[in-house]
Amino acid sequence: MSKEENLECSFCGRKKVETDLLIAGMDAHICDKCIEQAHGIVEEEVSESKSSGLSKDLMLKKPREIKDFLDEYIIGQTETKRAMAVAVYNHYKRLLQENEDDDVEIEKSNIILVGETGTGKTLVAKTIARMLNVPFSIVDATVLTQAGYVGEDVESILSRLLQVADYDVAKAEKGIVFIDEIDKIARKGDNPSITRDVSGEGVQQALLKLLEGTVVNVAPKGGRKHPEQKFTEVNTKDILFIAGGAFSGIDRIISKRLNRQAVGFGASLEDDKIDEENLLQYITPLDLKSFGLIPEIIGRLPVLSYMNPLDAETLRAILTEPKNSIIKQYAKLFKMDDVDFTIEEDALNYIVGKAVEYKLGARGLRSLCEAIFTDAMFDLPSSDEKELHVTKEYAEAKLTNTTLKKLKAAS
Ligand code: ADP
Repeated sequence: MSKEENLECSFCGRKKVETDLLIAGMDAHICDKCIEQAHGIVEEEVSESKSSGLSKDLMLKKPREIKDFLDEYIIGQTETKRAMAVAVYNHYKRLLQENEDDDVEIEKSNIILVGETGTGKTLVAKTIARMLNVPFSIVDATVLTQAGYVGEDVESILSRLLQVADYDVAKAEKGIVFIDEIDKIARKGDNPSITRDVSGEGVQQALLKLLEGTVVNVAPKGGRKHPEQKFTEVNTKDILFIAGGAFSGIDRIISKRLNRQAVGFGASLEDDKIDEENLLQYITPLDLKSFGLIPEIIGRLPVLSYMNPLDAETLRAILTEPKNSIIKQYAKLFKMDDVDFTIEEDALNYIVGKAVEYKLGARGLRSLCEAIFTDAMFDLPSSDEKELHVTKEYAEAKLTNTTLKKLKAAS
């Protein structure tokens, strides 16, 4: 036998003649079959570590660290940030313990956030998803209807998530879904004129299973990528749901309950001074029930937190403090044209003042800035002027009454 024929695969021992190809390395050889097998192992390992890598990463982040991350992007809302940090930490702990063999089953920690529009509910959910690097989608509860009615079935929630996950089911199954305006599917109460509560209780019922964990057949939207595959099975048991709503009028419900408690047996008004300005901080699941959420839904959103209204001080901080604050974004935009952008404190306070006066909230800050800086953003790129220094007078001059009225109307 020639020396050449004596060669064999260092992995499986096959002789050269038994292989289609034998590749030589430094001191070893590998055959085509072993390469294929090894390739399979690599693929499997990589995809596994991609999906579980998320939870491994996360376990490095303790609630305190999660909150620190949220602090970089969200001003104030301390109670919610703490509650979210714990809920998210527990959620992913739950994912890690899933294969363990004991009887203690950790339930899902879906979250419900109550607070006026524009107070940062979506921002909190989005920031958590950004930290975890998981797919995130927002759905509006108002478009959902009970199966069989005109509108979107609750399953559509998942097709959006699947789309964001680029149709990677394993990735989508560990994603986060923000259900906005959950208060709009509240039961309409005892009103006898409403015989069929299509958008209310029916939708809540339909949501139940999804929140808890179930396998859903999802029709992929824009199934261009996988036309052969009509439905995808998605298991929702590891998807974190965060619901949010303004629940306007719930303060009256809270106030009524608190007053009832205050006159009740053993209550001491002296010890517990009620902060009438911000009743949301006293919210309990019971109030959500009085508002019209069914007890089963409330049970499946066990973490309840609230958002504080944004005062002038918070709005001022929102303008410049978050890592990607509005002002930092404009500075960056100008910098790209080599324009040195500065803004005086007086001008910032003026913007905040207008946002408060016209009740524009945090979203209004962006529109106000847009109105003030648009002229400069139009002119400066093609001029030799390489500096923009914004004073209060400059801001005042750019912000006409007509603009303000328009902004107010649009808010
Ligand atoms: P909601 O979901 O409660 O209606 P959003 O999360 O959409 O409110 O908030 C609207 C915008 O306002 C956000 O994109 C963000 O720029 C800003 N904002 C609101 N609250 C905060 C906050 N606490 N910290 C930083 N930015 C905020």
